[in-house]
Amino acid sequence: MKNEKKIRCNECKKIFKKKLYGPITELNTKKKFNIYYCSFCKFYKTHKVPKKLDLFYPNTYRNFKGLKELVLKFLYLLNFVRLNFNKGDVKKIYEIGCGPCFFLDQFNQKGWKCTGVERNKQYIKKLSKYNKKINFITIDKFMKTKKKIEGKILMWHSLEHIEKPHKFLNYLSKISKINTELMFAVPNINSYQLKLFGKYWIHLDPPRHINHFNIKTLKIFLEKKSFKVIKNQNFFPALDFMGFVGSITCYLNTKGLKMPVTVINSKGLFDMIFSIVFTTAIGIVYIPFFFYGIISKSNSSIFLKAKKVK
Ligand SMILES: [Zn+2]
Repeated sequence: MKNEKKIRCNECKKIFKKKLYGPITELNTKKKFNIYYCSFCKFYKTHKVPKKLDLFYPNTYRNFKGLKELVLKFLYLLNFVRLNFNKGDVKKIYEIGCGPCFFLDQFNQKGWKCTGVERNKQYIKKLSKYNKKINFITIDKFMKTKKKIEGKILMWHSLEHIEKPHKFLNYLSKISKINTELMFAVPNINSYQLKLFGKYWIHLDPPRHINHFNIKTLKIFLEKKSFKVIKNQNFFPALDFMGFVGSITCYLNTKGLKMPVTVINSKGLFDMIFSIVFTTAIGIVYIPFFFYGIISKSNSSIFLKAKKVK
């Protein structure tokens, strides 16, 4: 870092001392980003965070259709059951970064009062059209709520997208009543997949992913904001396999080889046959990594549940 000019964290403004990876090219815009360790924030950060982040969220982002939508709905349902999401005395749920509402639909069916929070006004309009029983608000509006909230707050792979996570969590802490549950899933920067794929690891995903955590850094972060961690889970085989396949796709795409790597993305019969053969081959290669991830507790996702304590 000696020869580089002083580069600062987008939130705390302290100078970064350690670079983890970079430059990493964002495939749509060809812009380059680096990942640094912020010794003040105590987690990894993407640099430089663009002023207009919306430009990096194409219309296809989290817009799932057909077979892909069905598969994902099923996987979300499995996690809903497995992680006991329906358990709780106060049946109120706020999901920050709710996307196409795969979780909120489940909560809604079980009679929970649901609020979905998203960044884009147009997207909220679209969501409101199809989900009449769910209340939607923009993140800007949510950040101005004065009313205390209770029940559950869910952030499923969305904390890594927040521009100023300290400010955001301070705010969540301020408006949460005691015993409010905060549930996070984020990519694990200590994953074996990062060591294996390096800058091609799909979950680095700059600049959409601004913050990068491991279990330890996330725990410290939450506890500083008066949330006590009560459960952590690192075993998400479907997400782990998707990360594995996605990183190989990312590598091939960067090298200019556009392949229909996954069955659910394929178009036409030839594509589909090719994808099945290719995904099966990746699946076989993946088996030892699957077990390694379990034994070393370094799967690609972390889930933490915390409770507001004071
Ligand atoms: Zn910082």
